[in-house]
Amino acid sequence: MTSKISNVRIVFPGEKLATGSIQLEAGRIAGIELHPVTGPAPLLTPGLIDLHTHGIGHNLYERSAQEIRKGAAVLPQFGTTCVLPTLYRVMNRESLEHLATLSDALPASMPGFHLEGPFLALPGAGAATIPGDLALLDELLRFNVRAMSISPDAVNILPVIKRLRERGIAVFMTHTRASAEQSEAAVAAGATHGTHFYDVFPIPAETEPGVRQVGAVEAILADKRVSVDFIADGVHVHPLAIKCALAAKTWAGVVLITDSNIGAGLPAGVHDTPWGFQVRVKAGDGARNAENGTLAGSALTMNVGMKNLLRWLDLPPEQVWAMGTLNPARVVGLARKGRMEVGADADLVLWDAELNPVKTWVGGELVYGKI
Ligand SMILES: [Zn+2]
Repeated sequence: MTSKISNVRIVFPGEKLATGSIQLEAGRIAGIELHPVTGPAPLLTPGLIDLHTHGIGHNLYERSAQEIRKGAAVLPQFGTTCVLPTLYRVMNRESLEHLATLSDALPASMPGFHLEGPFLALPGAGAATIPGDLALLDELLRFNVRAMSISPDAVNILPVIKRLRERGIAVFMTHTRASAEQSEAAVAAGATHGTHFYDVFPIPAETEPGVRQVGAVEAILADKRVSVDFIADGVHVHPLAIKCALAAKTWAGVVLITDSNIGAGLPAGVHDTPWGFQVRVKAGDGARNAENGTLAGSALTMNVGMKNLLRWLDLPPEQVWAMGTLNPARVVGLARKGRMEVGADADLVLWDAELNPVKTWVGGELVYGKI
């Protein structure tokens, strides 16, 4: 099936903005024609790619195949065309059958899981913390896994990192109090990315007055080979901290994630969760325990994160768009996604003047908005 998106302003992530029209064929971008347009043309970008997300709306991906499918169906309304459903409580031998069911349910817009654990040093929001175990890792890698988060200070972690690299799986660092040396060793073994950077990376304590300690944050910032991602909701990380990372990494080394959970994308109000408490969601905040107000996770969606970054960062817009499109695709080796070029997957979003998604295509098919 062939179709055409005519007279738009086109974002080429990291490169430029130009006006023209796009030809779609057989799920791919088949032609790009640059030409002047008259009047205010809507913006067309590659679809947003979320490497770290636990759920959306009322759906928690690791709970059931049905919630994976329902989540996939609502994502396009937020301009998101590709996610790695991020699991954190089911990576154990008791859950292998459940994982097989989840893995079989993954649609094309979910090209593999991100396993956040179980080989972590600090639990954060209930993640498992066990020593590196190659036998368990091999069991987990029978399923469709595209990225795994580890802690450089987890016991016996280097063999795990090496095995992941051999299998072509991206290794993310997080949930860590690692020393600079442990972090450098993890990078030397094949870790390439820091996820929800700064969050659950506690600052090393001062051991001697006047002596500034360094740790995983400094080791990651100092190494050009390592990229980082942020929950850009203005709550989990201050915009200034994102700017510090940008100064070290440039736009090409920074990625937008949501780390979203139940409550994300829902209207403001109180919503049920499977954890025995309710969460309160409102614009510009995380999901909070409705009773005591503590932070219970991220309620961010990719379109809102992108809007925040465009507002906070003094960078050309095509570089900011790369943080939600091209950069995440590169981090996990999705060679046909996040790009505006002939042959790329036709995962596209058309935005209105207020940066709300108007139409979303996944694999050339219009999955949100009207023709
Ligand atoms: Zn986490």
